[in-house]
Amino acid sequence: MAKAATTSTATGYCMKCKTQRQMRGAKPITMKNGRPATEGTCPECGTRMFKIGASK
Ligand SMILES: [Zn+2]
Repeated sequence: MAKAATTSTATGYCMKCKTQRQMRGAKPITMKNGRPATEGTCPECGTRMFKIGASK
């Protein structure tokens, strides 16, 4: 059974593709300064993506 709740639709900017993409495996992280951020990987090239702000 698919768990819809675990499917994140967070988007981020891929530096390699030079475009916005949906992050794969997006997960909320906390930066050193305590701010929320979202980290994931590009579904096209596998490059690590990063976005400031909590995932929605
Ligand atoms: Zn990419």
